[in-house]
Amino acid sequence: MNTEILLASLRQVVGGSNVIAGPPDGPALVVRPGTTEAVAECLKLFHAQHAPVVTLGGLTGLVHGTHTPSHYFGISTERLNKIESFDPSSRLLVVGAGTKLEAVHSFAADHDLRYGVDLGARGSCTIGGNIATNAGGNSVIRFGMTRSNVVGLEVVLSDGSILTDLRGLPKNNAGYDLNQIFIGSEGTLGIVTKALLKLSRRPAGTASVLVALNHLNSALVVMEAMERACGNSLLALEIMWSRYFEKVSTALSAETPPLPRGHPIYLLAQVEGVDNGEQAVDSLIGALESIDDIVDTALATTPVQESRLWSIRDGSDVIERAHKHVLSFDVSMRPHDYAAYIADVEARLKARVSNAIAYYFGHLADGNIHFMIGHDGHSSDARRVIEECVYDPLASYEPSSISAEHGIGREKAAHLWRSRSTAEIAAMNRIRAALDPAGILNQHISYEPKSLGARAS
Ligand SMILES: Cc1cc2nc3c(=O)[nH]c(=O)nc-3n(C[C@H](O)[C@H](O)[C@H](O)COP(=O)(O)OP(=O)(O)OC[C@H]3O[C@@H](n4cnc5c(N)ncnc54)[C@H](O)[C@@H]3O)c2cc1C
Repeated sequence: MNTEILLASLRQVVGGSNVIAGPPDGPALVVRPGTTEAVAECLKLFHAQHAPVVTLGGLTGLVHGTHTPSHYFGISTERLNKIESFDPSSRLLVVGAGTKLEAVHSFAADHDLRYGVDLGARGSCTIGGNIATNAGGNSVIRFGMTRSNVVGLEVVLSDGSILTDLRGLPKNNAGYDLNQIFIGSEGTLGIVTKALLKLSRRPAGTASVLVALNHLNSALVVMEAMERACGNSLLALEIMWSRYFEKVSTALSAETPPLPRGHPIYLLAQVEGVDNGEQAVDSLIGALESIDDIVDTALATTPVQESRLWSIRDGSDVIERAHKHVLSFDVSMRPHDYAAYIADVEARLKARVSNAIAYYFGHLADGNIHFMIGHDGHSSDARRVIEECVYDPLASYEPSSISAEHGIGREKAAHLWRSRSTAEIAAMNRIRAALDPAGILNQHISYEPKSLGARAS
């Protein structure tokens, strides 16, 4: 490959100031195209040279999907950040892939609407990154994952061809639904450049409640009661185990926390009132009043009170900073299996990595719990051993997954075989080869069958 000629051509396409140095742990050089056509021109150049490419969004992904060897070329979506068009009658919004999730929320709020996907990284992550990872977040219980909130896409394939479906037809069974295959494909099939998003009516008000409980079984009782009583008005139902609540609430609040620390389990629920805010409060109180297992509650009826409760659930970066090394996990299984599974993981960690401290929290209603496990890094194979402690027991709790919402990335590729059959992995690789025959897109994310996976771990 003649790098100088390639660089000169790239500068011609995007302008000299948009060929920049890459992030740490990523490609040495990054281009920042400002239009879909410029993305296509860059890809044609990379394709001709068989040069490996990684797409960079907000860099908030949790599975090292943007961590590549330095000889890769990065394509950043930073300049593809425009709100392109909005149709108030259909509530459909077209945005560039580099638009921040928070900007979509602000746009929606300005039009008295909302966008269903929300997560802690909202200020940094991009719509393209959310689509590439099929991000979930706090309101999957109500709005589904990103897949359910995206109506159309514009995508550039590795050879530079552009697929555009931003028409927003509610029904179109004329052939395959190509949009869906790119959602959750982690940049391995094409680069998303625009998205057509579905907005919906904003509620008149919301209310949240933090509930302290003695056991996970009680959390399941509360969850069922809330789902029954609140139905569609239940926006979120999140869980935090004691260690997580204690660490994060201590770091965040100079004042006393909303509930005393030390309870085994905390549930955080948010409910909406469609016509007025009081409806939300009434349905929360109605759902909880007859449940004996509740130890304590803190009700939040104003936005300020609610954000105080939610800052604890969204404050996982506190854990990131609290330990020299932190490994993140994102497993899913049936909610009622978590008591036994977590006890199993704790016992294995205690026996094998005595300095490891695990924090558990996440999306209980979706059967999706995040584990952040801090350790001192003294043992050179701590990562492998901790991964075994978390992943080995999963097989006893089928159906389960090694990655509920974060994707595979570079970090979890060696464990894909634990959650996908050999036939499924082969089919994924065939789709990939069909859409990116030169294999230039995110080739560091490899979908490996069991024998290779076992060796790589
Ligand atoms: C504090 C915090 C909380 C989080 N909470 C949640 C949560 O609740 N639920 C959840 O699902 N995730 C959560 N995440 C992780 C989540 O996956 C990312 O935040 C987000 O979806 C990734 O967007 P990004 O723009 O940062 O993508 P990046 O990190 O830049 O990229 C992620 C992957 O997508 C690819 N990619 C990026 N843009 C494109 C594009 N336009 N076209 C094709 N491929 C592309 C990249 O190559 C990479 O493989 C959280 C992360 C943080 C830091």
